[in-house]
Amino acid sequence: MSNKSTVAKKLSLDDPLQFIKGVGPKRADLLKKLNLETVSDALFFLPFRYEDRTQVKKIIELVPGETASFLGEVVNAGTVRIGRRRKIFEALVQDDSGFLHVKWFQFNETYMTEKVKTGRKLIFSGKPTHNKRGGGLEVIHPNTEIQSDGSSESLEIGRIVPIYHSTDGLHLKSLRKIIKNLVDNYKNLIEEFLPDKILKRYKFPTRSKAIQKAHFPPNDASIELLDKFQDSSQARLIFEEFFLLQLTLALKKRHLQVEECGQPFKTRGELIHKFMELLKFDLTKAQKKVLGEIMHYLEKNEPMNLLLQGDVGSGKTVVALISLLTGVDNDCQTALMAPTELLAEQHFLSIRPFCEALNITIALVTSSGTAKEKSLLHSSISNGTTQIIIGTHALIQKKIEFSKLGLIVVDEQHRFGVLQRDALSKKGLTPHVLIMTATPIPRSLALTLYGDMNVSFLDEFPPGRIPIETKLFYEDSRNTAYTLLEKEITEGRQAYVVCPLIEESESIDLKAAIDVSEELQNRRLPNFKIELIHGKLKKEERQKIMAAFKNGEIDVLVATTVIEVGIDVPNATVMLIEHAERFGLAQLHQLRGRVGRGKQASICLLICSHALTVDGKARLSAIVKSRDGFSIAEEDLRIRGPGDFTGTRQSGMPLLRAGSLLRDIKLLELSRREAIDLIEKDPKLEAPEHIKLKEALHHTFGNQTNLMKVI
Ligand code: ADP
Ligand code: MG
Repeated sequence: MSNKSTVAKKLSLDDPLQFIKGVGPKRADLLKKLNLETVSDALFFLPFRYEDRTQVKKIIELVPGETASFLGEVVNAGTVRIGRRRKIFEALVQDDSGFLHVKWFQFNETYMTEKVKTGRKLIFSGKPTHNKRGGGLEVIHPNTEIQSDGSSESLEIGRIVPIYHSTDGLHLKSLRKIIKNLVDNYKNLIEEFLPDKILKRYKFPTRSKAIQKAHFPPNDASIELLDKFQDSSQARLIFEEFFLLQLTLALKKRHLQVEECGQPFKTRGELIHKFMELLKFDLTKAQKKVLGEIMHYLEKNEPMNLLLQGDVGSGKTVVALISLLTGVDNDCQTALMAPTELLAEQHFLSIRPFCEALNITIALVTSSGTAKEKSLLHSSISNGTTQIIIGTHALIQKKIEFSKLGLIVVDEQHRFGVLQRDALSKKGLTPHVLIMTATPIPRSLALTLYGDMNVSFLDEFPPGRIPIETKLFYEDSRNTAYTLLEKEITEGRQAYVVCPLIEESESIDLKAAIDVSEELQNRRLPNFKIELIHGKLKKEERQKIMAAFKNGEIDVLVATTVIEVGIDVPNATVMLIEHAERFGLAQLHQLRGRVGRGKQASICLLICSHALTVDGKARLSAIVKSRDGFSIAEEDLRIRGPGDFTGTRQSGMPLLRAGSLLRDIKLLELSRREAIDLIEKDPKLEAPEHIKLKEALHHTFGNQTNLMKVI
C-alpha cells in the first residue's frame, strides 16, 4: 500500500540533478563538467546565443539573403577535394519541395561524417546564397541539428531556440530537454527577492518569468537583443547576480566606516615639508592630485580604504612614502608590504636614505635571519621603537605585533588576496589602508573585487619618458635580438634577460636561467659582466647583486621572474624575455615596465617559439601594439576570462553565472549604485521589503562569514 503523495519529497531548487527525470548518473557526470549540480545551477545556466527558427520554410520557399530554417533529409554527403590543398564538406539535402546544397569550408571530418549522414533528417539554419557558378541556391556553414522525433520537436523548430555551451557526449537537444523539464516543474519555486521598487524602476520581469523567458523566449522576442544579452529577462538575471555581489561589498564598506574608527591624521606636517626638500624632482600633477585625495581620506574620522591604480612607472613609490611619513608625523607606526622579498628589499634600500636624513627608524622584515635577529626585530616593532616597517606579507603573520600601526601600504596588490586584507582587521587593527596596483585592473573587475574600496588613479607619467619599443622575434632570429641587446650595453646601458617560466617549480625555472646566463657569459657576451639573480639566493647575496646592478657594475642581469615587479634601475634600457609566450599579458607588461625609466629610449625584446597557440598569438600582439596598461588588462580579461585573472582565483570571488564583466559593465555599474543606495537607507536590511533580499544574500554568501557578519 503505497502512500506516495504524502511521502514524496518536496521539490527544492537545491535538488541534485542526478535524480531529475531524463538525467541519471551518466548525464549527471556530464552536467558536472558544466558546473551544474543542482536544479538551481541548471536554471541559471543561460543560453549563450539563440537561433531564430520561427521561420521554418520549405526548400522552395527559401529566399537568398534571408536567414531561415528548413528541415531536410540528406541524400548524399562527403568530403570533396578542390585542387591540391582545399577540402570542403558538401551535402545534398531534400524535402518534398526540392533540393539544395549545403557546404562547409571549415570542418572536422570525423564529426561531420558521423553527423551529416545519408538518410538522416536534420534541421538546417542559415542564410541561403546564390551558387557562384549559377547552380541555384546553397547554404554555407548552416547551423545543423539532428531532429529528434515525436514529442520534443517543438523545442527545436518553429521557435527561437536556445543554444547552450554543452560538453562532449551531451547532445544539445538532450540538454535543452532537461532544462525545459526543469523550467516547467520548478518555475513556481523560483521566488522573487528584488525589492518592488527596483523591479518597477527597470521594468524587470519577476525572477521566475525571467528564467522561463531567457531559456525559451516567445516567438516575438528580439533575437538581436537576446544575442546581446539585453532582453529584459537576461538583464534582470544579470542584474540580480551583480546586485547581490555589490550588496556584500556595500555592506562591508559601510561596516568599515561605521564600526571601526581609524585615527584621523593631521596632514602636510613638518616632516612632509622636510621630505619634499630632499626630493630631487617635482611631483607630477597626477601625483599631487592623488596625494590630495589620500590626505582627504586620512583626515577623516574613519579608516582610509583606498585602491591606487597607476601604470608601471607612473611613480607610485613616492606617493607611498609620503603616506608613510604622514603616519609617522602623527606618532604612528606605518608599514609597507610588497609581494616579494626582493621588492621589499628594494623599497627598503631606496627609502632608508630618506629615513636617515629625517631621523626616522626603519626596519626590513623578511623570512630570513636568525631566530635571535628576528626576535630583536619583532620586539622593536612591538615596543614601538621602529617607525616604518617594510616587508612581505610575512608582516601580517600572527607573530608580529605592532605597537601602534596607523597606516599600511600594500604595493603591487595583484599578488595579495582579499583575505590578507581581512587578516589585519582580525588582529584588531584598523589602520588606514592604501593598496597600490601596478597591473591596472579593468574597471569592471575593480568594481567587483574591490567594490568596498575607494579608487584613485595615477594617470600620468613623470616627464621625459620615451615610450618603450616592443619587438617580437621567433627562435630562429634570436641572434638579431641579442645583437640589439649587445649594441645597448656596448653604449653603457644595462639589460635584463628574463628566463622562461617552464613550470610552477622554481628549481626547474632556475635550471633554465643558469643555462642562459652561462651561455651568455661563456659564448655570446664574454666581454661583459653577466650576473644571475633568482628567488633561491640568500638575502645578502641578492642585495649585493641588486646594488651592483644599480651601480652599473653588472651589464646584464639574468633573472627568473623575481624581478617582475617594482625594480627600478633607470640606466637599464633593454628587457629581453625568453619564451615570452609562456607569460601572461599582465606579467609581460610588468616586466616591460622595468625599462623605460630613464631619459634614454628603451626596448623590449620578446623571443617566442614558433608553436604559438591562438591565445598566445593574441597576447603577444596585444603587448606589441599597446603600451597602455589599462587596455592590456582589458585584453587579458578578454583572452583569459575573469576566473583566471591574476590572483582572483584565491580571492574568493564568486563565479558569475549570468553576468559577464566584459559585456555587462552598464548593469554592473547600475547594480553598484542601487546597492550603495539601498545600504545607505537600510544598513542592516531590516525593512520588511528587504527580508527576502537578506535571505538571498545569506543563501548565496552564507559560507563567507566575514562578509555576512554584518547582517
Ligand atoms: P611605479 O609606479 O611603477 O612603482 P616608481 O615609483 O618605481 O613607479 O617610479 C618610477 C621611476 O620614476 C622612479 O625612478 C622614480 O624615482 C621616478 N619618478 C617618480 N616620480 C617622479 C617625478 N615626479 N618626476 C621624475 N621622476 C619621478
Ligand atoms: Mg612600484
